[in-house]
Amino acid sequence: MNDSVNFCDLQIPADIYPYHTIDKTVDTIVARAPLALLAVNANGCVIWCSPLPQMHNSLRNNTATWLNRDLLDILPLVHGEQQAWQACLRGNSGYVKFMLESKLVHGWFYPLHDTEDTSQGIAGILFDTGTSEPNHQILAEHTTDVITKHNMDGVIHYASPSVTRLLGYAPDELLGVTVFDLFHPDDAKSARKKFFGTDRDFQPNEAIHYRIRAKSGDYIWFETLRKLVIDTATQATKEVVAVSRDITERKMTEDRLMYLANFDSLTGLPNRALFRDRLRRAIARAQRNNGQVALLFLDLDRFKNINDSLGHHAGDQLLRGVSKRLLKNAREGDTVARLGGDEFTVILEGIESSEDAVAVARKILELMEAPFKLDGHEIVVSTSIGITLYPEDATDMSSLLKNADTAMYRTKEKGRNSYQFYTADMNDKAIETLMLENDLRHALEREEFELYFQPQFDLHTRAIIGIEALVRWNHPVRGLLSPSKFIPFAEESGLIIAMGEWILRKACTYARAWQSPGHAPLHVAVNLSMRQFHQRNLVEMVTQALADSGLPPYCLELEITESMLAHNVEKTSAILHELHNLGIRLSIDDFGTGYSSLNYLKRFPLNTLKIAQSFVQDIANEPDDAAIAEAIIGLAKALRLNVIAEGVETDEQVYFLRGRGCDWVQGELFSKPIPSQDLLPWLRRNRPHFVVYQQGVLWPDAAHA
Ligand code: C2E
Ligand code: MG
Ligand code: MG
Repeated sequence: MNDSVNFCDLQIPADIYPYHTIDKTVDTIVARAPLALLAVNANGCVIWCSPLPQMHNSLRNNTATWLNRDLLDILPLVHGEQQAWQACLRGNSGYVKFMLESKLVHGWFYPLHDTEDTSQGIAGILFDTGTSEPNHQILAEHTTDVITKHNMDGVIHYASPSVTRLLGYAPDELLGVTVFDLFHPDDAKSARKKFFGTDRDFQPNEAIHYRIRAKSGDYIWFETLRKLVIDTATQATKEVVAVSRDITERKMTEDRLMYLANFDSLTGLPNRALFRDRLRRAIARAQRNNGQVALLFLDLDRFKNINDSLGHHAGDQLLRGVSKRLLKNAREGDTVARLGGDEFTVILEGIESSEDAVAVARKILELMEAPFKLDGHEIVVSTSIGITLYPEDATDMSSLLKNADTAMYRTKEKGRNSYQFYTADMNDKAIETLMLENDLRHALEREEFELYFQPQFDLHTRAIIGIEALVRWNHPVRGLLSPSKFIPFAEESGLIIAMGEWILRKACTYARAWQSPGHAPLHVAVNLSMRQFHQRNLVEMVTQALADSGLPPYCLELEITESMLAHNVEKTSAILHELHNLGIRLSIDDFGTGYSSLNYLKRFPLNTLKIAQSFVQDIANEPDDAAIAEAIIGLAKALRLNVIAEGVETDEQVYFLRGRGCDWVQGELFSKPIPSQDLLPWLRRNRPHFVVYQQGVLWPDAAHA
């Protein structure tokens, strides 16, 4: 017969055995390395089998035992091959894949007929895939990495045993499985391309990172190096060998690092780096779509005050609370970020007009109205918002950020708790501020600071009891500037330390000159800023200033604010006691505007409470302010402290204060702050009328006078 091969008395159809045209001898067939020739009946039982020397190690010498056994007991089917096998058993020719340990075995099957054309079962030839050499095989079987082989459709035809440890599948379970089906849907496209793309598409040693589904259903991060196996004859790629390892832990560490680099650990919001990235993308998208972007810059009002008085823990709680409220308000696609401190930003994409930004800003202000609960305190915090628009105000990222920041500062200046859109003239103002900061650095050496003095009076006797030193900056171009224009910069830059020492020394020297025999001693009140109060050598510096000027300590009063008291209570108490022991008077400025606990007042050696001007202003017609002022007066009396009302401007205020038992007053109704050179003449004119003073209350050590 031309179209069949006679092999061990079996007629094997010519096309069943691919090599028959080349050589028909058994020796040659054996040399071509088929695994086995066999015949199987319709039930799948082996009825004949060749005893071939190339038989796989584990099968050698025991092919006899194949007889009368179900072939699938010896060679399990690869996953998904059941149908093909059944078709062969029904008398169709076909190709079926089996497993031999972890190797893939190909089988070609054809129906067998006797001369009467009666079916005699099927004949088959089994081929080992034979791609791995024994050494490689051993390596593959023992490496901790997973080695897999895939045909060009992604079908796995070998998986090393370590796959069980990493993914939970037995190697056999994976045979015949298309690896793409195991990729995470998000990674499938790119991983597939890299797995099976040509070496020209990307570096052959480039690692492929993707998630793969383990048997448990969880996804594991894999790093895979793949190698294309080229058929030397045809130069076509015939399979892909992949070496993969589990990098889930490394990915998690990387993710964590990525998180730390991009998110703020306190609030979980994007940080400055990620914010910049998001803004850059938002601008790029808007550029493509001719869209608009709004950037909102938020800064909490008086956050420092809360941090200083209630502590950093409460400050942190507040920042977290604020970020939660901002997120609640955000639409999908908006970015809420924390740039640091109490600064937040919101990027609004795809807005139709500035009205959309207004709506968001209003909503934020509204959300802030409810009090925050911080360590048992209920605190209301407002925020100032600056808004800028792309492309209307600027088209690049840093200009937008600068604009929004400038607009936010303008909101603060206009009274906080509101929003402002950026306008071009704000920029001039910002530049001005910057220049002012710069000038401030030279102001001290150029002797541009000046002291003004505002007298304080006893309400009952009308005697002058003291004078408060108030600094002014005589700017060469801008003229006389009030402290609110430059003290904040001086604080921020640290210049306040040198400036504060100059003020104290100057005030002491003047005050020494104004003491005169026959008159009650005048005390001079000097304001201390937070930074000064915490400077390391404050007590030494004060002692030295007193010694150098010759001013008796009881003639010096230092004004501190409530927020300084709450900050590190132990240390504060120690400093205050040291100052008190020097004989210096201590007063609390702007009392009622901070968050001081009444406890502090008892613990600290204080002399005077100064009722903040903001309460005095409306004392005559605002019942709330009146109630607060009255409570402060009552508190001072109970604690046996002096009480002075600041910023008194009207007779009604005096009437009210006197009626409630306030001791002392300071304000323009009595005298504006007076330039230092004019004070002595002023005293000469006015002092003789005010010779009566309350000895004993004011001057604990009158002998020094
Ligand atoms: P302060 O210590 O509460 O000073 C009282 C402020 O009220 C002064 O403002 C004073 O000029 C103003 N004032 C006085 N009488 C009246 C009045 O009848 N009506 C109104 N509306 N205001 C009145 P000034 O001089 O602008 O100082 C503002 C703040 O700057 C001071 O508030 C103080 O906190 C700070 N400051 C002033 N001088 C110094 C200083 O030498 N060192 C430090 N660290 N801070 C200073
Ligand atoms: Mg003051
Ligand atoms: Mg004050």
